[in-house]
Amino acid sequence: METIKIDKIVRSNRKTVALIVTQDAALVVRAPVYTPMKYIERLVSKKSSWIKQKIAEVLKRPRPLAKEFVGGEGFLYLGKLHKLHIVDDASLIIELRDRLYISKNSLPQARKVIVQWYKEEALKIIRERCAWYAKITGYTPASVKITNAQKRWGSCGPKGTLNFSWRLIMAPMEVIDYLVVHELVHIEQPDHSKLFWTKVQSILPDYKKREKWLKQNGGLLTV
Ligand SMILES: [Zn+2]
Repeated sequence: METIKIDKIVRSNRKTVALIVTQDAALVVRAPVYTPMKYIERLVSKKSSWIKQKIAEVLKRPRPLAKEFVGGEGFLYLGKLHKLHIVDDASLIIELRDRLYISKNSLPQARKVIVQWYKEEALKIIRERCAWYAKITGYTPASVKITNAQKRWGSCGPKGTLNFSWRLIMAPMEVIDYLVVHELVHIEQPDHSKLFWTKVQSILPDYKKREKWLKQNGGLLTV
């Protein structure tokens, strides 16, 4: 038998024990209030190969490097890396040409300037994609907004108001389209029922591939 470190035990009103491997490869146990420690330890030991496999999967995912905002550093836009190019030009703030041009004056607030640019681009492109898929699907959103959400890529409010994280603009267009279709279908199907997924698949037959990309690479969509 092998001992695996439990990082956190959360006791609550629930009825069953659940083992969760988090995004940062920690093992969290959720258990009913009076579950004996011995029981939890035995379960973790019994499931050790499954836990180890999950941890290995999480650790294999690509991780973002901390941004330094120096010339030549790569920034993602629609799934492609663009090198940052610093120019001594006060008339320019930020602009994507062959490279991502940023003025020397913008450097002290480089992160803010780049995030603002990402937000504007995300709004423009995601609104266009929503309009395009609204025509195809017949589901028209009441509004389309951009959020700062870290982990939630998109959401659909009860009145058909759609929200998308600006981070999505770093993902390839196929992935953005998947999120757009996903939220548009929620206008009619609020839950993730079988019918919901059937509708998503009828619009994007390869949606699973796109969803998988986001699961595996979503952690890279950050500045
Ligand atoms: Zn959903």
